[in-house]
Amino acid sequence: MAEKKRDYYEVLGVEKTASADEIKKAYRALAKKYHPDMNPGDQNVAEKFKEASEAYAILSDPDKRKQYDQFGTAAFDGSGGFGSGGFDFNSADFSDIFGDIFGDIFGGGRGGFRSGGGTGPVQGANVRASVRISFREAVFGCEKDLTLNLKEPCPTCSGTGAKPGTQPQMCPKCGGKGQVIYTQQSLFGMIQNRTVCPDCGGTGKYIKDKCPDCGGSGYKTSRKTISVTIPAGIDNGQSVRIREKGEPGRGGGPRGDLLVEVIVASDPGFVRDGMDLYSAVKISYAVATLGAPIFIDTVDGKVIYDVKPGTRTDTKVRLRGKGVPSLRNRELRGDQYVTLVVDVPTKLSKEARDILKQFDELTGNTLEAAGAAGQESGAEDTKKKKKSKFFK
Ligand SMILES: [Zn+2]
Ligand SMILES: [Zn+2]
Repeated sequence: MAEKKRDYYEVLGVEKTASADEIKKAYRALAKKYHPDMNPGDQNVAEKFKEASEAYAILSDPDKRKQYDQFGTAAFDGSGGFGSGGFDFNSADFSDIFGDIFGDIFGGGRGGFRSGGGTGPVQGANVRASVRISFREAVFGCEKDLTLNLKEPCPTCSGTGAKPGTQPQMCPKCGGKGQVIYTQQSLFGMIQNRTVCPDCGGTGKYIKDKCPDCGGSGYKTSRKTISVTIPAGIDNGQSVRIREKGEPGRGGGPRGDLLVEVIVASDPGFVRDGMDLYSAVKISYAVATLGAPIFIDTVDGKVIYDVKPGTRTDTKVRLRGKGVPSLRNRELRGDQYVTLVVDVPTKLSKEARDILKQFDELTGNTLEAAGAAGQESGAEDTKKKKKSKFFK
């Protein structure tokens, strides 16, 4: 008999009146926390993930949700895929959620969940690793060597896990099927359900004499160096998927994938937002006023930019195509937005000060400002006094 199922709303932690959006959001958070890719080999977490996924599959479908609200889980048990043994992962729309979680830039789209029913080929678990790269390596792409422990089939037993000269036996609990069948009372009568054999974990095999080399696991671990191609335009936290460099599969199944999370160092000169870059450059008061060509740093090196006469501080200019390349198309690049900051000098030579004073007298700005800020401005000579007081 199956365990009593928890209430789906309770599983997702939402109210019975929750909107479709709230349900999706709740599931997204749980899926991220419990996804098997994030927790390889943790059976308890895998169960939690399955439970949340099942709840989401029902509650995200308006018809199924209505049925569930009326009849509870009994409405679904055994009805072609929602029994606890063979939950049908493909029937609900998970793809966008997993896409979000993994930023799976190579469009793998594999949910990563494989229920262990049966002894057929089962893909191995995914393995996660991370690699640190520089800001510019992220912009232009790079190759990185990654050394990690990879499981390989044990050479002594050829991966069977049995002592050489012996064979794994058929699992007595499930008769080699890897699944056990149980019956369950539901609203629609007696229902037969299958679940993964608890004794052999779905392999259908029982090893009496374990291989001395691998202790029956069938695997040996070795240090391997893998070259990872990191595409131009990758951003911090995104992952590169390397097919079939994860854990070995079972029963002839393919290896899982290696998911390499990329950690991008920050750069003192640039702030990145998606494909666009932001930077700031100081210009002198003279350049801002008169206009002049200046150098601006880009990820491609210095470029010349003509500052227009009369440029105010905090003016933003856009350097088209000087941003980060698109992950999907290298030729497509974002832009660089540069803030021109008019620099106010704090140290001036006597000569420079004298010229600046002269400049101010010529333009008359300070005179007026000082006059306006002063008490009762009056005769011409008072103004002159004020002016000389203003400049020490
Ligand atoms: Zn072995
Ligand atoms: Zn078994």
